[in-house]
Amino acid sequence: MSSSILVVGSVAFDTVETPFGRAEKVLGGSASFFAVAASFFVPVSLVGIVGRDFGEKELAAFRNRPIDLDGLERSDGETFHWQGKYSYDLNARETVCTDLNVFESFKPRIPEKYRRSSHVFLGNIDPVLQRDVLDQVHAPEIVACDTMNFWITGKLDELRKTLARVQVLLINDAEARQLSGEWNLVKAARAIRAMGPKVLVVKKGEHGVVMFTGDSFAAPAYPLEEVFDPTGAGDTFAGGFLGYLAAARGLDETVLRRAVIMGSTLASFCVEAFSLDRILRLTRTEIDARYRLFKSLTDFEAL
Ligand code: AMP
Repeated sequence: MSSSILVVGSVAFDTVETPFGRAEKVLGGSASFFAVAASFFVPVSLVGIVGRDFGEKELAAFRNRPIDLDGLERSDGETFHWQGKYSYDLNARETVCTDLNVFESFKPRIPEKYRRSSHVFLGNIDPVLQRDVLDQVHAPEIVACDTMNFWITGKLDELRKTLARVQVLLINDAEARQLSGEWNLVKAARAIRAMGPKVLVVKKGEHGVVMFTGDSFAAPAYPLEEVFDPTGAGDTFAGGFLGYLAAARGLDETVLRRAVIMGSTLASFCVEAFSLDRILRLTRTEIDARYRLFKSLTDFEAL
């Protein structure tokens, strides 16, 4: 069976304000960023929901790529809308508003043809719905998952049941501390890995990521001269990471470390423009060139 990724998550209109400009109701959502990033590596099947205001112009972003949209439900309401604001410290973002709209009644229905996907990415949605998805798929090789403070605070028991069925968890450092109740990230990782996911990737914004597998591995964020809009960087990282893993079909330490660098590479492009603008213009040649720059960025001689 060839590899493919099923992603379930938000497809959104985002309004984003940064010190460098403002974008009004542009394409966003966790599943959108993830799908485009992962589609550089393997075919992706997208399950989500949009409203009647989501037209051909928005869908065009996904066309001409190996992204199957038959699982993108259209409902008679407005598309999920998220508004965020960044100050000069681009690591700190304020959510101005979250209009769930059609997302409020979202019940993921996985089309029959997606149920044998080799890899599954559970975007940041209610952990009960994340488990619903897992109940509908047949024995995926790897399930990866995202979550956020809202679910850690409000549905911790449900989240723990989901985590027991997940191999890879990708969260930020504040979420890792909150989930584990440990301030120290090494202790937090030990506690979280005992909940289920044997691979924990902790994202630290412009300070890069740390992966805990028993070993630990750290990668910096690529030092860019222009960081324009960090929205979607986490989901784009996840798309590059899981896309690479699915194409490589392995979970050993070497493959996992390459996947971390591939995720960081994709995320570094994402932040160069608003919305999905940069990753939609991206080529495989550019990806491979920046991956090589990562190697020289972190390479040093032993003493
Ligand atoms: P990231 O910057 O990778 O954490 O993800 C940003 C994306 O997440 C934006 O495009 C938003 O549309 C989406 N988003 C924000 N809040 C939520 C939420 N509560 N549920 C689902 N998606 C969300």
